[in-house]
Amino acid sequence: MDEIEYLKSCVKSIKDFPKSGIVFRDITSVCENPEAFPLICKKMAELYADAGITKVVGSEARGFVFGAPVAALLGCGFVMARKPGKLPREVYSESYELEYGTNVLEMHQDAISSDDRILIVDDLIATGGTVEAQIKLVNRFNATIAGAVFAISLPDLGGVEMLKNRYGVDSRCIM
Ligand code: 5GP
Repeated sequence: MDEIEYLKSCVKSIKDFPKSGIVFRDITSVCENPEAFPLICKKMAELYADAGITKVVGSEARGFVFGAPVAALLGCGFVMARKPGKLPREVYSESYELEYGTNVLEMHQDAISSDDRILIVDDLIATGGTVEAQIKLVNRFNATIAGAVFAISLPDLGGVEMLKNRYGVDSRCIM
């Protein structure tokens, strides 16, 4: 089995979670696996190893799980996009719609500077609403978004196309 097939075999599809009609891609079994988790983080980092990334942005909570190790592998900083009320200093806020509900993300106002080159990392892209909120937050700083990388893409939900067409952001995914 090649590495991608191996990683795919670690993801479980859970019907009707978190509500009826949703097929949830459960990536916790990748994170719990001592071979699969380092492998997928390494593969995500390798895709942007030569892109001059200075900071990785990841959103609470699964974006933290993948974003922080990818940042460490790239030798750059990690910026947390958090749920409301969690960050202690002045924040920028963006609301967005999820596949199943709405949410708000916040980022510290001094987390990024205009000369940063940003990589957005998350476990999965579906509609792209979550990463769009992060793009809007990063754009407040006039930083360059060099790309976005996801463990899993659900192309039928249009997120990857939307990032390219609306924001000119090229994204890549492992599965
Ligand atoms: P989007 O905003 O692109 O519609 O949805 C992606 C966001 O929702 C990601 O932050 C991801 O963590 C979460 N998400 C949506 N669907 C799934 C899923 O099936 N599996 C996992 N692991 N996360 C999901």
